[in-house]
Amino acid sequence: MEARGAEKEWKCQHWWIIDEKDIGHCKYCPAVRDFGKEREAWLRRHKEAVRALGAIGVKRSLRPWSK
Ligand SMILES: [Zn+2]
Repeated sequence: MEARGAEKEWKCQHWWIIDEKDIGHCKYCPAVRDFGKEREAWLRRHKEAVRALGAIGVKRSLRPWSK
């Protein structure tokens, strides 16, 4: 087996720096993620839970990607 390129591939854990437009830029690699869109999708998926929580003050904590 010679095709072992994956071995060289560096797996970035991604350290997201999120700007005011909710676009995340990784601190360590050129990766970009649209967190605004992802949050929308996430919110849609968790609509029931969000409603149950009362939506007030919850927005800030609706960032499952940041611990
Ligand atoms: Zn990265």
